[in-house]
Amino acid sequence: MSIFSHPDFDDHDGVYSFSDAKSGLRCFIAVHNTNRGPASGGTRFWNYVDDGEALTDVLRLSRAMSYKNAMAEIPLGGGKGVILKPQGDFDRETLFAAYGRAVEKVGGQYITAEDVGVSPNDMRTIKTQTDFVAGLDDGDAASGDPSPHTADGIFRGLEVAVKHKLGVEGVGGLIVAVQGLGHVGYNLARRLKASGAQLIVADINETVTRRAATELKAKVVSIEEIHAQEADIFAPCALGGAINADSIDDIQAYIVGGAANNQLKTPEMGAELQKRDILYCPDYVLNAGGIINVASEVSGTYDYDWVDGKLEGLRVTLKEVFDRSASSGRPTNEIADEMARERLKPS
Ligand code: NAD
Repeated sequence: MSIFSHPDFDDHDGVYSFSDAKSGLRCFIAVHNTNRGPASGGTRFWNYVDDGEALTDVLRLSRAMSYKNAMAEIPLGGGKGVILKPQGDFDRETLFAAYGRAVEKVGGQYITAEDVGVSPNDMRTIKTQTDFVAGLDDGDAASGDPSPHTADGIFRGLEVAVKHKLGVEGVGGLIVAVQGLGHVGYNLARRLKASGAQLIVADINETVTRRAATELKAKVVSIEEIHAQEADIFAPCALGGAINADSIDDIQAYIVGGAANNQLKTPEMGAELQKRDILYCPDYVLNAGGIINVASEVSGTYDYDWVDGKLEGLRVTLKEVFDRSASSGRPTNEIADEMARERLKPS
């Protein structure tokens, strides 16, 4: 299939592939849109079945970054990197250094940061080869791991959703089912617990679920059952596609909102959630806290007050999405896409 006829191509500004035999690097960097500024979005390091799966992922994720950055009103375009995890042995530092050189070749059109499978340590390795990297934990404007800020934005957004859907202030007394207790999911769970919510959790990693059971008094269920819990909120915080034809009929929650990118397996799932009277918080609106934090670093001077203002802005934007959806009767994901496309138009 040619790249231009790929179903997720969506008029990308640029799609780059890089390989390096010595390190085993095979990666894609996709730059979706730069109307608002240089494209930025994390790099994912994942065990893809093949390069077709990785290409689809990078295209979908980079478009979502354009929409996310536009909805968060930050001066960045949308882009993403994915690295295919090599089969067999590889040297992580050599691999991420080669990836850093790939980012450098894109010449500043793309600024990278962390995503699934990538750590601040990997960012330091990338930084040895290029300045087009953020989410660092040292240096003049370093903003560190974006995950706690992503969790903060999700928490604030869920409060808006709860008010809109259930008519109550805050999450106290509500039950939240959290799928995935990684960097964002665990931070979010901790924040929810501190605010009086009860937690049901699932993760493929038993160490984190055990910790959540002890530390947060969370009820642990299997990964096959988490979406089907009797909860007020279902928070997908693992990988994409949690809302799909197989899972949708089992969802009991009134609200779906979490960290994962591309939570809807297909856009039609948004209408299906609406039909079932479930309020969907569009993922890229809710989970923009991390990239907001990164944007402050990219500006050259880290400023938490600016970050906090933008996180508060997410509440306003989300409320607008919900209100427009309520008045038009259209699904929240369609409203968010429409607002994002409006904001992406060249000024
Ligand atoms: P992470 O890798 O730290 O955590 C993911 C967690 O999900 C891990 O604990 C993993 O064991 C678990 N998991 C994997 N498959 C699972 C399954 N089938 N069921 C339950 N748990 C499963 O990643 P993260 O940084 O916390 O990101 C989580 C999601 O949020 C990703 O989709 C990411 O793209 C998105 N996101 C992250 C950020 C950020 O700041 N890190 C920002 C925006 C969006």
